[in-house]
Amino acid sequence: MTSPDATNVLESTQIVIEQALRRLGYSDSMVELLREPMRILTVRIPVRMDDGTTKVFTGYRAQHNDAVGPTKGGVRFHPDVNEIEVKALSIWMTLKCGIADLPYGGGKGGVICDPRKMSMRELELLSRGYVRAISQIVGPNKDIPAPDVMTNAQVMAWMLDEYSRIREFDSPGFITGKPLVLGGSRGRETATARGVAIMISEALRMKGIPLAGARVVVQGFGNAGSYLSKFMYDAGAVVIGISDVHGALYNENGLDIPDLLDKRDSFGGVTNLFKQTITNEQLLELDCDVLVPAAIENQITEQNAPHIKASVIVEAANGPTTLEATRILTERGILLVPDVLASGGGVIVSYFEWVQNNQGYYWSEEEVDQKLEAMMRKGFHQVYEIHQTRKIDMRLAAYMAGVRKTAEATRLRGWI
Ligand code: GLU
Repeated sequence: MTSPDATNVLESTQIVIEQALRRLGYSDSMVELLREPMRILTVRIPVRMDDGTTKVFTGYRAQHNDAVGPTKGGVRFHPDVNEIEVKALSIWMTLKCGIADLPYGGGKGGVICDPRKMSMRELELLSRGYVRAISQIVGPNKDIPAPDVMTNAQVMAWMLDEYSRIREFDSPGFITGKPLVLGGSRGRETATARGVAIMISEALRMKGIPLAGARVVVQGFGNAGSYLSKFMYDAGAVVIGISDVHGALYNENGLDIPDLLDKRDSFGGVTNLFKQTITNEQLLELDCDVLVPAAIENQITEQNAPHIKASVIVEAANGPTTLEATRILTERGILLVPDVLASGGGVIVSYFEWVQNNQGYYWSEEEVDQKLEAMMRKGFHQVYEIHQTRKIDMRLAAYMAGVRKTAEATRLRGWI
């Protein structure tokens, strides 16, 4: 069963892709090609569970367009994974890679499962089974997976090992987000959050609000949300609210982020340890300077958009704001840094990891962070300028910046 939310996410993406391509002067056939991934594979993965039974999981790998180069994007393990969402996510990866000018098209994968209810052994078998099932269509110069929701460096290590066994040679560039000793990059784990932090500082600068002392609310305490809260805390911003799947915490004088990080479980849960909580809905409407949705899709809608009090919204999650909400927020003068721009840090450092694997030469963390910062700032100003000169919202501006390279490569190859 596909949720209506997933359908909305793909449809909204297609609407904005079409608007962006039209404004760039492309034809109906280009719109027709780029509104869907060029390839999607559905796989069935049998796993012998710890209790002796065999459970069959369903997974997907979508490749949006490979005119620019190999496709690239994460693999998520989540009960709500579905084909339509994976398709939309693969299109977003094209946009992220396009904004950052990476030599990739977009790809995305997912497996319907709940890692919170699985043992390490079961997760390992599932990760290996998924790679066996998709091995024909992936590879360091074909399609390069990476971590996403509820997959991490350990999962990447199992996937790398399975791929190397199938191919019978070591192939670190097959996957990114690996542990350091297996060819991972310094700075990869914190990359998405670092990128979001850079976007916050640029957006606040546009609004004339200093970062030190700015009141920040972060929805979601997973990889992106937790590191981001720490970066904000270290930069002297006041993190007044955070949340996880259980609920949200609020303190107008600022939360003790290092303490919350210590208490956080491996899936980002922490608010269940506290008695005084608020709801996720209340969190989004708190009086603050910066709101960062870093959790799941469709959180800011036409219902709550009129009540949001932030000056700046930076989307660390994929698809947290609906199109109608984007319109309302833009009209209200709130500066929105859209997901395909704001959360590009992960894939940018994945690209650095792949380059290092190809070179067999590894960079320092400072070098990675410096290069990441330069690329993120460049992306922001590129999108902001399109937004200003064309008088369009930041999301459409980001789509224009993001889709242009793939459309141009598609045309030059003579496909359209
Ligand atoms: N899953 C991350 C994203 O959605 C990272 C993808 C990658 O590193 O390839 O951007």
